[in-house]
Amino acid sequence: MLSTSGLADLHTHTFRCGHALGHEEEYVEKAVALGLAAVAITDHIPFYWLPPQAHDPTLAMASEELPSYVESVLALKEKYRGTVEVLLGIEADYVEGHEEKLADLLERYPFDVVLGSVHWLDGLWVDAPSSLRLYQQGADQVEAIWEKYWQKLEKAIRTGLFDIMAHLDLPKKFGFFPEKPFTDLESRVLEALAVTGTAVEVSTAGRRKPVGEDYPSPALLHRLVAAGVPFVLSSDAHAPEEVGFGFQEAVSRLLAFGVRETLLFRQRQRAVLPLRRE
Ligand code: ZN
Ligand code: FE
Ligand code: FE
Ligand code: ZN
Repeated sequence: MLSTSGLADLHTHTFRCGHALGHEEEYVEKAVALGLAAVAITDHIPFYWLPPQAHDPTLAMASEELPSYVESVLALKEKYRGTVEVLLGIEADYVEGHEEKLADLLERYPFDVVLGSVHWLDGLWVDAPSSLRLYQQGADQVEAIWEKYWQKLEKAIRTGLFDIMAHLDLPKKFGFFPEKPFTDLESRVLEALAVTGTAVEVSTAGRRKPVGEDYPSPALLHRLVAAGVPFVLSSDAHAPEEVGFGFQEAVSRLLAFGVRETLLFRQRQRAVLPLRRE
C-alpha cells in the first residue's frame, strides 16, 4: 500500500466559489491529517473578463473577495509553518483577448502557484452542469466542443501565464468523446507544454465525475510522459474530505508509467517532490 504522506495536493477550492464546501483552514487540516507535505489553496479567480453584473456567485468569488482570500491563505501559511506547507494559489481561467488583464491581476498578489484552466469557450462553459444539454445534442456538437477546447488550450499554454494546466482533457467530464481523438491538436498542446515548460496536473477529480477516470486519460498521460512534461498531483477538492482523494492510485499509475517525481511551486518557482513506494 502506498502512503499519501509527503505528497502535495496542488488544487483545492473553498466556500468562496459558491459551489464548494468548507473554509480553507478545513482543507489545510485534512492535509495535516493525511501527512501531506504541502497543500495549495487554488480557488477560482473572479470573472475578470466579464462586467461585474455578469458575476455568477455559484461559479467564482466576487472581485471584492479576492484580497481577503489572499490574506486568509497567507495567514494559514504562517499558522501552519512547520506542520504543512500552505501554498497561495489561484485557478485562473484563460480567456482569449483578456490576457493582459489576467497578467495584471496575477502580478498584484504573491501567488505561489497559478493553475491555468480553459472552462470558457467564447460564452460556453465546458464543464458547468448547465452545459450538459449541449453535449446531449449529438456528435456534431461534441466534436465542436472538443475541437475548440484543444485550440483554446494551446493558446492558453502559449501565453506562459500558468505554472500548471488543470484538468487537461476537461470536455470528457460528462462522458462525451469525439469519434476519433484530435491527435494533431493534442500534439500541438504537447508542443506548447514542452516549449513553455508548463506542468500538467494528474487530477483525481475525474473519478468523482460521470466519466469516472482521472484527468488526463491514460492515452494522453502516455504521450505526456513521452514528451517529458512534468506533473503535479491534484484532487481539485471541493470539500475538505476530498483533499488527497485517490492519490494512492494516482501515484501507482505514475510509477507504472516510469514517472519518479512530481512538482510543487513556491513563489512561482518549481521544486521537486520525489515519488517512492513505501
Ligand atoms: Zn470549482
Ligand atoms: Fe477547473
Ligand atoms: Fe478547480
Ligand atoms: Zn477545477
